[in-house]
Amino acid sequence: MKLNFKGLRALVTGAGKGEWERKAAEGIGRDTVKALHASGAKVVAVTRTNADLVSLAKEVSIQPCLAWTCFPPSGIHQKLTGTMPQVTKICLPQCPGIEPVCVDLGDWEATEKALGGIGPVDLLVNNAAVALMQPFIESTKEVFDRSFNVNVRSVLQVSQIVAKGMINRGVPGSIVNVSSMVAYVTFPGLTTYSECAIHCGSTKGAITMLTKAMAMELGPYKIRVNSVNPTVVLTDMGKKVSAKPGFAKKLMERHPLRKFAEVEDVVNSILFLLSDHSASTSGSGILVDAGYLAS
Ligand code: NDP
Repeated sequence: MKLNFKGLRALVTGAGKGEWERKAAEGIGRDTVKALHASGAKVVAVTRTNADLVSLAKEVSIQPCLAWTCFPPSGIHQKLTGTMPQVTKICLPQCPGIEPVCVDLGDWEATEKALGGIGPVDLLVNNAAVALMQPFIESTKEVFDRSFNVNVRSVLQVSQIVAKGMINRGVPGSIVNVSSMVAYVTFPGLTTYSECAIHCGSTKGAITMLTKAMAMELGPYKIRVNSVNPTVVLTDMGKKVSAKPGFAKKLMERHPLRKFAEVEDVVNSILFLLSDHSASTSGSGILVDAGYLAS
């Protein structure tokens, strides 16, 4: 399937992890940015850690952006050196190919400042998330709030900004929310389940209904909204949630295909949902689960 996103502008959240120089596991968001860029799209790459954006810019061999505007406005304009302090900032729009935006999406006001004036976006991938591990009985308000703010509230906020722009311009669009198979299913008999699923799973369950509700309301404007729901993918996050001794092996054996998903498998499904190849699909989710839900 050859995809061509030439002439379109995409925004991908959680675009940071997987620095190739460190041979770190590629994150789903970062790989999505690279795939969209390779298919001709201009991409706004949003993440929390500036150094990841610096390495991403190097990796896709583009001229790094020379000017940054900081939010909250502090008057700081610095070169893209990789040594900047972690403040929220947005790249000025003259940067070619990839526009890096560094912001904590769990902070509503900072997100509004960083992305409120982001301009036309045709394709949105809500991928940023945290997997904060706590058993139910020890769960704290702070961890619960952080999980929902990053994993759910930011999807609402960023999608609102992008969808308003699409509606005002009268153009169609496609939004993909990166959810998880834990939106639908627990890991019975595996003790790590509770620690991963209380926060991560409940936020992803919320994403299922948010996806449907957004699809309902935005459909008349020709804006499609779908999710992808992967099983474990061995990114930094995937390694963390499956780190307990014996857990990964036991869980993998429950998958009919006897494997987890690869980053590329998830990215291919995201690209399919973003593209016109899925023109009649909305409010839906693609399981990338190596058959787990059939087991
Ligand atoms: P990674 O940890 O590799 O990437 C997550 C990205 O999100 C990082 O770049 C991270 O930046 C960014 N991010 C996290 N919090 C914020 C924030 N507050 N503001 C801005 N950016 C933020 O994870 P994956 O690639 O594995 O996960 C991508 C998506 O896939 C997530 O939605 C995850 O829930 C989902 N998923 C992953 C699975 C897996 O096993 N890996 C399984 C099922 C679903 P930083 O590190 O700087 O905070």
